[in-house]
Amino acid sequence: MFNKILIANRGEIAVRIIKTCRRLGIATVVVYSEADADSMAVEMADESVFIGGAPASESYLVADKIVAACRETGAEAVHPGFGFLSENAGFARRLEAEGIVFIGPNPHAIEAMGDKIESKKFAARANVSVVPGHVGEIDDTTHAIKIAEEIGYPVMIKASAGGGGKGIRVAWDRRDVEEGFPAVRAEARSSFGDDRIFIEKFIESPRHIEIQVLGDKHGEVVHLFERECSIQRRNQKVIEEAPSPLLDAETRAAMGAQAVALAKAVNYDSAGTVEFVAGQDKSFYFLEMNTRLQVEHPVTELITGVDLVEQMIRSAYGEKLAFGQKDLAIKGWAIESRIYAEDPYRGFLPSIGRLVRYAPPEEGPTASGAIVRNDAGVREGDEISMFYDPMISKLSTWAPDRLQAIDAMGQALETFHIEGLGQNIPFLVAVMDQPRFRSGVLSTNYIKDEFPDGFQGTVATEFQADVFTVVACAMHQVMARRATSGPVRDDWIVVAGARHLPVQVSQAGADLVITAGERVLTLSSVAWRPGQPTFSGALNGTHFTCQVSPAAEGFVIRHRAAVQRVLVLSERSAELHLKLPPKKAADTSKLILSPMPGLVVSLDVTPGQSVRSGEQVAIIEAMKMQNILRAERDGVVKLVGAKAGDSVAADEVLIEFA
Ligand code: ADP
Ligand code: ADP
Ligand code: MG
Repeated sequence: MFNKILIANRGEIAVRIIKTCRRLGIATVVVYSEADADSMAVEMADESVFIGGAPASESYLVADKIVAACRETGAEAVHPGFGFLSENAGFARRLEAEGIVFIGPNPHAIEAMGDKIESKKFAARANVSVVPGHVGEIDDTTHAIKIAEEIGYPVMIKASAGGGGKGIRVAWDRRDVEEGFPAVRAEARSSFGDDRIFIEKFIESPRHIEIQVLGDKHGEVVHLFERECSIQRRNQKVIEEAPSPLLDAETRAAMGAQAVALAKAVNYDSAGTVEFVAGQDKSFYFLEMNTRLQVEHPVTELITGVDLVEQMIRSAYGEKLAFGQKDLAIKGWAIESRIYAEDPYRGFLPSIGRLVRYAPPEEGPTASGAIVRNDAGVREGDEISMFYDPMISKLSTWAPDRLQAIDAMGQALETFHIEGLGQNIPFLVAVMDQPRFRSGVLSTNYIKDEFPDGFQGTVATEFQADVFTVVACAMHQVMARRATSGPVRDDWIVVAGARHLPVQVSQAGADLVITAGERVLTLSSVAWRPGQPTFSGALNGTHFTCQVSPAAEGFVIRHRAAVQRVLVLSERSAELHLKLPPKKAADTSKLILSPMPGLVVSLDVTPGQSVRSGEQVAIIEAMKMQNILRAERDGVVKLVGAKAGDSVAADEVLIEFA
């Protein structure tokens, strides 16, 4: 076996590859750019080599630097991960010429499959069903319109060299082609340096189903069943699962056989993925082949027990596959959620920055018989950089059946705590709770169909409303006890939106019993201290974890995708609260207000200073929690309303822009 492998990648996939190498007793070298000097991958690898500036074009994409790093460290093989140089036949050839093994398919296979036009020609020859369309380059807009009209609208205009959801456009009519063809061509030229375009039929509301294949250098190829990746946004995968809820054994076998036939036709000798679009009627058409390890490979590993990175290393070394098709079987169900640094409440805008807090769920078997796996390349305090993919981690769960796997994912997401930047966990958990997702009737339009106006969170269920009540009471009680040495009252009004709920709070051993009229809510197994951002406990025996933060007179509490501001008031204050005129939405667009009563830890700007959107302007501390305030837009500071050390009320003006 290899003694030393170099990983020409970063982030979670570099960490993922290191883990398998360690298990196999292979030493690892990781290359890193300026932005990744302190990364988890660098910390974990046996050796690391600096290769240049943060932009990938100065580091991770420079073949010369990778080769030099191999020379310097004596690495015998390179694992390229995905993205970067992973599908670059020239790079694979270059390594071969240097006597270094490329842990991936042979360069001919990359060339034949790496290009969408060429791979479709190949697929058609291997009797694989391809999406109807024009398998060839298109010269200009007039030619494009002619082809589109022959195929029949709607059609998809695609860059032959495209990838990662880029260089793709749907055209519903002639005007869309007139506009779309030059646009895709320009994007293809700038993103891929290759402006060959083709057109194929746009399959409406399809499902994305792909087959994992694995080959060796001895002509053997097997498939490891399918993954369904229909939950996409802008043609990019967000949630994947294996197996697919659509397929029956017969369709699975037919798809698997086509994928294997295609792989064999190009002497495929590594892990790869054959992507299809499928109709709800189980018809399916070849889309493209990805000649690399796929982002969502963990779900396949979870249902088959095969370590795909290990198999890639073994095949590259020249070993024969240790198993045949008949040795492989699907066991249980697995789901993967891509946790992105993006703000679901603001149109999924990218939200890069520092992971001020990062507390993933515990990995391994759960009490309910599921398995949790979190593929991450970050630690608390790390930064999600603007230079690379905005992915924070990939959370996967396995369970004996689909609904159990979904529930395990919901649970794992519920306890995943991230602060410091926007992240899509509330959205992911909303999908896990959504009836159509749970029913398995998926399509690539799912997000558009089910969240047509974007994502605003979900309405609290009765259980969640009760969770908000008991959590607010419990936190309020602790805070009240800290504020006085005398007795603390035990009757409160819990105000959540328009709801005013009189409650009586009493202690029963370690449990808190909250009586609201006829209803008795018992809170037990509480894990929370003031200042802690997550609160977990059991409500009448059902476990939950919420994210909590202080707000004016109360708390903001999030459980899964439901968020609520809850106040705990005396009867007198609640009455006054009712009489308060509804707040006029003042024009606060030029102001930065304190989000809560607290202590100003720092105020980082001065009048006359220009700030950029996203820049940190102040830190407010309350309940031992530090909250970083950032400018929401570019502007020039006109006035500063407080200084470090001041105590401020909620909504007090901290900064005014000109
Ligand atoms: P998968 O198909 O494995 O789910 P994606 O399509 O999301 O993966 O892409 C995997 C990674 O590779 C991402 O980081 C993506 O940005 C990158 N990628 C894919 N194709 C290309 C390409 N042609 N050029 C540059 N980056 C690419
Ligand atoms: P990429 O290289 O960016 O992954 P793909 O060709 O795999 O490009 O397409 C990305 C996604 O776009 C697919 O997963 C699918 O959702 C959608 N798509 C691609 N081609 C078609 C098509 N002909 N009809 C419908 N949807 C398509
Ligand atoms: Mg694809």
